[in-house]
Amino acid sequence: MNVIKTTPSKIPIILCIDVEPDPFLVNRFNPEPWDGYEGTHRYLSTMRARFEEATGSPVHYTWFFRMDPQVAESYGSPTWAVDRYPGFINEMAHHGDELGTHTHAYRWINDQQEWLEDLGNQDWVNYCVEMSINAHVKAFGQLCKTFRFGNFWMNTPTINLLEQRGIRYEMTVEPGLPSYHPGTLGEGHSTGSRPDYCRVPRIPYEPNEEDFLKTGSNGSRLLKILPLTSGSLQLGRNIPGRWRRLRENGFRNRLQNTPLSMWKNWQAPNTFEKMLDRAISVQANPYLAFAIRSSIGTGRSFTPVDNCLQEIFEHPERKRFVFSTPAETLALLHDQENPC
Ligand SMILES: [Zn+2]
Repeated sequence: MNVIKTTPSKIPIILCIDVEPDPFLVNRFNPEPWDGYEGTHRYLSTMRARFEEATGSPVHYTWFFRMDPQVAESYGSPTWAVDRYPGFINEMAHHGDELGTHTHAYRWINDQQEWLEDLGNQDWVNYCVEMSINAHVKAFGQLCKTFRFGNFWMNTPTINLLEQRGIRYEMTVEPGLPSYHPGTLGEGHSTGSRPDYCRVPRIPYEPNEEDFLKTGSNGSRLLKILPLTSGSLQLGRNIPGRWRRLRENGFRNRLQNTPLSMWKNWQAPNTFEKMLDRAISVQANPYLAFAIRSSIGTGRSFTPVDNCLQEIFEHPERKRFVFSTPAETLALLHDQENPC
């Protein structure tokens, strides 16, 4: 009998980095320097060569720049970070990284002298999105195709606006996060409500025009949502925990209910390596997507993120990993699903 040996499929990894001020509530009158971004850029520059050696493939990161009203009002221009760090941007372009946009909806309330995250005000959200996308075009001289909203938040009108404005790859959704998850809303006041990501698809999908949390018909949309990676905790005899996971996420998605957030301290039996293995094993055509914030460069949450990235170097399957842009990820998954 002839045995046909196939090479194991590649596993694209999208590493999203939100490039933003270190605090959420920026000091509008004496804005903080972006020390975290500087540190994160240097760190990931060093890591690039190590990832390339470990995986045997070129490494492409995906950077998301803040260019919204909070940045514009505090730093004088929505394109401040790009204007301030041209060397970093050149390095990213040289390596073929993806340059995307990351928006928060902070609005300055003069009476209270504080930031309000005004997510319940669609006109304001639209204004923030429009400013960000316009600034991206100005800063980089090219259309913005890749987007992440801040603070785990998204809604259907915003997805539809993003599509109209040319966004093709949307990376906000974190499967398994329930609507009662507090996010970082503890930092200041906010309006609006949080979406429930428990029942969203766990694969890249074209969102329904009426409800972005559901799949639309194939070929109906130009925009695709690429959910971040979720895996499952080993719950052992924790029956209530297992029941809650099943009830919230449904049977099919119950093992992809815990976002693999790199800023967490993962402990045995749920080490990051084990979480990674579980996340890969439940996917028919696996891909991985993680998001980190540039503030790790100040040291805050740096160690857990570094530990997670070290796990990727040392992973037995590391030769299958390819750090890819969203477009490259979709192309790779497509080719692997449709071998000629
Ligand atoms: Zn952010």
